[in-house]
Amino acid sequence: LPTDFHVHWLPPSIQVAELPPVAREFRELDQLLENVRDVGLTEVVLSPQINLCAENFEGTEALARAEDYNEPLLRAAAERPEVKVLGTVPLREPEEAARVLAELMAEPGCAGVEVSPIVGGHLLGDDLFESFWAAAAQTHALVFVHPTQRGFDMASLKPWMLWNTVGNPTETAMAAASLVMSGTIERHPRLRVLLAHGGGSVPALRGRLEHAFNTMPPARERITQPPGVYLRRFLYDTVVHDAELLRQLVSWVGAGSVVLGSDYPYGMGTLDPVGFVRSAGLESADLETILGASPGAPVSEPRA
Ligand SMILES: [Zn+2]
Repeated sequence: LPTDFHVHWLPPSIQVAELPPVAREFRELDQLLENVRDVGLTEVVLSPQINLCAENFEGTEALARAEDYNEPLLRAAAERPEVKVLGTVPLREPEEAARVLAELMAEPGCAGVEVSPIVGGHLLGDDLFESFWAAAAQTHALVFVHPTQRGFDMASLKPWMLWNTVGNPTETAMAAASLVMSGTIERHPRLRVLLAHGGGSVPALRGRLEHAFNTMPPARERITQPPGVYLRRFLYDTVVHDAELLRQLVSWVGAGSVVLGSDYPYGMGTLDPVGFVRSAGLESADLETILGASPGAPVSEPRA
């Protein structure tokens, strides 16, 4: 039964100058699905390669890029019952993104969209994106926030994988904090936002956000409850590479907010996510909840 919520697929129809270095099959869907089944997964949620998502482009090119990637994704979902997909939207133009999102959500097998934490220099909680978030809440789309892997284009993050090990979790945490402190999550209690890599650095920020809310007026401008309330409304995947960290995440947000992820086919992923989660020393009820999470699950009532 387990669903892998974090699997990337690069359809053969999408031309790229150079394939990113990957551990296993990235292009051929049948081979990809066979590899995924080999580690005990029955359903997958396919998402685009993040740097090919439509928000990396502007104007008509962005719309064309969205169509080029969404078309094979939707076809894969229509042809294979074990496949759900996350599409891509031209988020630099939020009204247009809202329209494309509504169209996507009307297609069978589309669970939502994948978006970058920073779009055109703006964090996702920027007021600029309000129409997109309203559409996401209305259509019950799952919005997967996935780092761009660009390491903020900082030269000093280029060596030793720091662009990835530090840059990625930082990007995700910046977007999450922005969504919480801007009041986006409070305004849309039914939003379903999935944070990649166990939320990146989010767990490390919670005390500081809470303290700011309690002591600093600017941190209270947009929210009425403490930040932790909204941080626990995100969904988090299990790609954290540390059993203790996973246990802490589950104990903080609850197993119902944690979903299985592999980050297939990347070397920085966990090619056996079921094995990792099973060996993490979780309570058996929590383990069952995580392995049973489904992308089509009805939207639960927001927790206080
Ligand atoms: Zn990924």
